[in-house]
Amino acid sequence: MLEIRPNCEHCNKDLPNTSTEAMICSFECTYCKTCATDLFDNVCPSCSGNFIERPIRPSKMIEKYPASETRIFKPKDLKKAKLNSEEYKNILPKNR
Ligand SMILES: [Zn+2]
Ligand SMILES: [Zn+2]
Repeated sequence: MLEIRPNCEHCNKDLPNTSTEAMICSFECTYCKTCATDLFDNVCPSCSGNFIERPIRPSKMIEKYPASETRIFKPKDLKKAKLNSEEYKNILPKNR
């Protein structure tokens, strides 16, 4: 089950369950669209995988299966992230 983390790991923007801006990698590193797309070029700075839009858990399920309330806020070293993005952004995710 997805944790549905409450914020962007890099800029700390709120990303509630109903947000349409939340992006996740396969490890559920969670970023806002601006960070994931503009800043990291669709390359996760932690695992180098791609991001996809996080699905929204339907309202009838969210009470029984609540979203995480644990904020993870670890701004990335942008120099390192840029090098990582440069290395992987032109490689299709399935070939990374
Ligand atoms: Zn962000
Ligand atoms: Zn990742």
